[in-house]
Amino acid sequence: MSRTPEILTTQVGIVGGGPAGLMLSHLLAKAGIDSIVVEKRDHETIRTTHRAGILEHGSVSMLVDSGVADRVLTTGHKHEGIDLRFGGESHRIDFTDLVGEAVWLYPQNEVFVDLAAARERDGGQVYWSVTDTAVRDQTTDTPTITFTGADGRAREIHCDILVGADGSHGVSKWSIPQDQRVDNFVEYPFAWFGILVEAPPSADELIYCNSEHGFALISQRDANVQRMYFQCSPDEDVDEWTDQAIWAELQKRLDGPDGFQLKQGRIFDKTVLRFRSYVCEPLRYGNMFLAGDAGHTVPPTGAKGLNLAFADVRVLFESIEFFYSTGSTKLLDTYSDRALQRIWKAQNFSYWMTSMLHTRADASSFEHKRQLGELAGVVASRPGSAYLAEAYTGWPNA
Ligand SMILES: Cc1cc2nc3c(=O)[nH]c(=O)nc-3n(C[C@H](O)[C@H](O)[C@H](O)COP(=O)(O)OP(=O)(O)OC[C@H]3O[C@@H](n4cnc5c(N)ncnc54)[C@H](O)[C@@H]3O)c2cc1C
Repeated sequence: MSRTPEILTTQVGIVGGGPAGLMLSHLLAKAGIDSIVVEKRDHETIRTTHRAGILEHGSVSMLVDSGVADRVLTTGHKHEGIDLRFGGESHRIDFTDLVGEAVWLYPQNEVFVDLAAARERDGGQVYWSVTDTAVRDQTTDTPTITFTGADGRAREIHCDILVGADGSHGVSKWSIPQDQRVDNFVEYPFAWFGILVEAPPSADELIYCNSEHGFALISQRDANVQRMYFQCSPDEDVDEWTDQAIWAELQKRLDGPDGFQLKQGRIFDKTVLRFRSYVCEPLRYGNMFLAGDAGHTVPPTGAKGLNLAFADVRVLFESIEFFYSTGSTKLLDTYSDRALQRIWKAQNFSYWMTSMLHTRADASSFEHKRQLGELAGVVASRPGSAYLAEAYTGWPNA
């Protein structure tokens, strides 16, 4: 095997073949701009990893209007509201009535399948299963990605613009010298215990439940598979939980005078999902730009992670297209500030939903009752509910 790296040249080099990287590559190709994506995992591993499930209407439009696929409209499920459940009672937040919008239940796996198929259909260059990825020369006119391909061959991608779309554990963000970035973050003293279940849906829409025993989320995948979560300790060991104990814990949090009962079934996946809120500022270092989880992460309570990744891509794509069509860096220079406006709104919403719905182990009776007062204020009136409805379904694009 040759030790001399193969040199590849392109306009935009993208690290990461998740939703952000593949969507950006797709939009660039449509605009006649070349890109190469490098992804460390294989197609099957990404396809079978369960993550986000709720798409804002703007994310759905990006998939459909840009010609990725319209399967989201045929196999996804439109949700026009959610239930907020507290004190054992459910209160529907009617998105369509409040803000005239909705969200779609369409698992991230399907988004990935659509994006990967679109890249293959359109002849996009994606290197799967790469190793040893590194980025260098970000502050020069030829930022470079180095990696070893699945065939064992060392390669270098020389590009004009390098995009770090490599998620929260990628290499791009950490390549920015510490004195050139600010890491804003907050940790939470809890995590989510997530299960996948073979069962019919317990409800038509998502139920976000606050109870004295902790938070629970009853979500769906399709007619036969459901996704449910309950608040747990970040160091919870899934193997210590029997299926019977999991169902008892979930049901306890949902119990109420209305007699709501979960539809149980075979649990075939158990995971503990740890999370924190994080924003890297700025989302740029020289000619390298960060998009999606590479630049920021949110707790999953507001269902914003995947949607924010797409929102970044929309802003970054416009900036790159403007650069190639006019030669001006004006929009690239403001990418970080413009993307951060939505990111901080989503950070606030995700933080708010998380702190309103979860129970802290050390919460006083004052804190617990204050939380119930906050929830009552949200469901009591249209103005109380409207902020939640607008934020959950997605703010209009700036
Ligand atoms: C377990 C889990 C559950 C989640 N659940 C929800 C949810 O319910 N709702 C919600 O809204 N959000 C959820 N999220 C967040 C959501 O999945 C992310 O916000 C979304 O995937 C962001 O897309 P992305 O493309 O920016 O990053 P990613 O999807 O993380 O994609 C980044 C890609 O880069 C690749 N990569 C990393 N390092 C390298 C490297 N060195 N070289 C090459 N490639 C590399 C990774 O393999 C990955 O495929 C969840 C996340 C996790 C981890």
